[in-house]
Amino acid sequence: MSEKTIVLHDQRAKGLIIPKPQRVLAPGQSLTDMWHRPLRDLRISVTDRCNFRCTYCMPKEVYDNTYRYLPHADILSFEEITRLASIFLKLGVKKIRLTGGEPLLRKRVEDLVAMLSELKTLEGHAPELTLTTNATLLKHKAQALKQAGLQRVTVSLDALDETVFRRMNDVDFPVSDVLDGIAAAREAGLGLDASGHFTGLKVNMVVQRSVNFDQILPMAEHFRQWRLPLRFIEYMDVGQTNNWNLDEVVPSATIVQMISAQHPLMPLAATQAGETAKRFGYARADGQWHAGDPEVGFISSVTQAFCGDCNRSRLSTDGRLYLCLFASSGYDLRALLRGGASDVELEHALVGIWQSRDDRYSALRQVQQGHTEPGAQRVEMSYIGG
Ligand code: SF4
Repeated sequence: MSEKTIVLHDQRAKGLIIPKPQRVLAPGQSLTDMWHRPLRDLRISVTDRCNFRCTYCMPKEVYDNTYRYLPHADILSFEEITRLASIFLKLGVKKIRLTGGEPLLRKRVEDLVAMLSELKTLEGHAPELTLTTNATLLKHKAQALKQAGLQRVTVSLDALDETVFRRMNDVDFPVSDVLDGIAAAREAGLGLDASGHFTGLKVNMVVQRSVNFDQILPMAEHFRQWRLPLRFIEYMDVGQTNNWNLDEVVPSATIVQMISAQHPLMPLAATQAGETAKRFGYARADGQWHAGDPEVGFISSVTQAFCGDCNRSRLSTDGRLYLCLFASSGYDLRALLRGGASDVELEHALVGIWQSRDDRYSALRQVQQGHTEPGAQRVEMSYIGG
């Protein structure tokens, strides 16, 4: 890998002014943004650190021993995260995803899961609690996370071939650590749905044409046999450090064709509004697909943007709210929290922020046929979570 200089403009401190609510919410009225999208999904980055150096997310050239990670005093405590989450739930959030960096690096993260699992949605249910991990620590944490109330897990794995896997994560973790983590999650019952299928234990694979294209079919076959949903993610221009290039993107349509040549696939309905993945089931010999049968998914931010019903917001490790994965700046909720704001004031701020939201980066990129604004200083994915 040739030495390349990557300039990172640190966007973390770049804050936006919190707008006033545009309209008062009547009791029971849903909070929506400028494209009538409700706030349903909150992603919380619990650490900006990771034990991987995936080249498309945290390249070693930038995240080396000179990189300034957030000091502990700056990151939100579990109590602060839980307080904020309770207000998001009051405004309509139903699903909370813990991310990072690598969330299992945050000490006692299972305690946070337990605190969040005590909260209630507007309908009085426990929120759907899920977590995205590279699974290298899952073997040791699966049982504790399940007992704490975690329901679903998404594991990032980009290859089965050892050489390709190590080239992508750029550290020396073997594939077996990840597969052992997935097996431990299954043993703990993480992702098991009411009908006894592991529909909530998913695997995500980022595909880069010149790096892991030859891993598409082996991964598909492996997880078809493990009966776990595998989602292929189109390589995205997140942040500023991954030297993204449209030529490296393998369109999901191509992968659908490749797999269908081996096993007939049939489109499946979305499981919920705002779902990022397009689902396909492996058809049986009779052309049918039954719940729990193997399936694959496609998260196609570049060629089939899904901004139209995007109901996601992202809370950074130090308490800034970002309204899009490709945002350049966020709203400093930590300042409000530590400045003594009441729950009503925090709720007011969130209403103003969401009502003024008009983000739809991928849809605009698609219109511009993948051309992105050169030098755009998007915030790093490792800071706000995928
Ligand atoms: S690009 Fe932004 S608005 Fe569009 S789906 Fe992704 S996060 Fe949502």
